[in-house]
Amino acid sequence: MATHEAYVKLAETTGHKDAELLHRILEKAMKPEEAYFLLALPAPNADLAAKFKMTEKEVEDKMLQLARRGLVVTSRKGTRFPRDLGTLHDNILASVPELIPEGIGQLWMDLYDAGWWKEIVGGLTQLPQPALRVIMPMKAMPAGFKPLPHESAEEIIMAHKDLISIRRCCCRVGMQSSRQGECQHPIFTCTQFGRRAEYDLYRGSGKKVSADEAISIHHQATDAGLTPTVTNISVMQGLEFICYCCADACLVLHPILRGDKVMAALRPSRFLPKVNEKLCRDGCQDCVRICGFGAIELKSAPGGKGQVAVISKEKCVGCGLCAIKCGPKAIVMELVHPPEYIPEALVGPSSIVH
Ligand code: SF4
Ligand code: SF4
Repeated sequence: MATHEAYVKLAETTGHKDAELLHRILEKAMKPEEAYFLLALPAPNADLAAKFKMTEKEVEDKMLQLARRGLVVTSRKGTRFPRDLGTLHDNILASVPELIPEGIGQLWMDLYDAGWWKEIVGGLTQLPQPALRVIMPMKAMPAGFKPLPHESAEEIIMAHKDLISIRRCCCRVGMQSSRQGECQHPIFTCTQFGRRAEYDLYRGSGKKVSADEAISIHHQATDAGLTPTVTNISVMQGLEFICYCCADACLVLHPILRGDKVMAALRPSRFLPKVNEKLCRDGCQDCVRICGFGAIELKSAPGGKGQVAVISKEKCVGCGLCAIKCGPKAIVMELVHPPEYIPEALVGPSSIVH
C-alpha cells in the first residue's frame, strides 16, 4: 500500500475518505508505519506481533505510546483507532503538550471551518433530546434552595470522589494554539470521573485530583465565565464528566450557536434570570459581557431614564453567570421547570459529546 493511501484508508474509517485536511492531520499525527499499524486494529496482541514482526511486549508499548498521543481508544471490541472525528480531535488535543504535533490545532480549525462544524450541528440536533445539560453554579441559586443531586456540580463531584482527573480542555487547546486572542479562558478544567479518569491517567493526559480540588476548579472556572455542562441525564453514575464550556472555543457550543440550534443540543438548567429594573445600574453591561449566548440586551428603561438589561428567554440557557456577575444583584435566578424536566437516561449515541 502506498504511504498516502494508508492515511486515506484511515480517514475512510471515520467516514471522511476524501477530506484532504484530515489526511494532513493524520500525516502530522503519525508516521506511515503507524498508520498501517492502526489500520490493523482491533486485533489480539499476538496477531499484531506476528503481522508486524514485533514481540508482544513491543506491541503493548506501542499501544501505550499511541494512546498517549490520542490515536487509540479502548472499546468492547478491543483497542482501535477512533471512529469519529470528535473523539480523534479531543484525544489528540487533550494529550500532554509535548506530544501534540505543531500546527495540528490550526489544521483542526481549518477542517472545522471547511464544513465539519455543520456535521457537528447535524449530529447533535438529530438526537431525540439535547445531549448536554447546563449546571448552574450554587452561588447563582436562590437563597435556601436545595438543588437536586444531579444539578449540583459539588454533589456530582462528591458522588465520584473515588477517582477524578482533570485534563486540558481539548477545544481551548485547539483554539488557543491556532487563533491566539479568540479565547482567553483557563485550559486546565476538564473534569473526568471513573473510567474516563482511568483512561486519562493511563495515557498521562490527566492529573488525579481530590474532590476538594475538583470543587475548587469548578469555582475558578465559573468565576472565569465558563459554563459547566454534563450529559443530559439524572442518573448520577451516568454523569462521567463536567465540561467547562465557552462559546469562543467549545466544539459543541460554538457550532450550535453558529448554526442557531442551541436549544436542540443543549438543555438549559431549570432556572431563568429575572431583572429587577430598579436595581439595574444604567447599563454597566457586566451581564452582557459575561453571557456567552448573546441572551442579554440593554434597552431603554421605562420612562426613558437610562438603560436596563433585558433577557431573551429564547436564547438563555440558565447558566446563572449574569446573576453572579451583576454587582448590584439586579438579576436573580428563578426556578421555572419541575424535576422531571431533566431526563433520567441517555437517548442516542453517547460518543457525540466529549
Ligand atoms: S450587570 Fe446588573 S446592573 Fe449591570 S447592566 Fe446587567 S443587570 Fe444591570
Ligand atoms: S442570560 Fe446569559 S449569562 Fe444569564 S443565565 Fe442566560 S445564558 Fe446565562
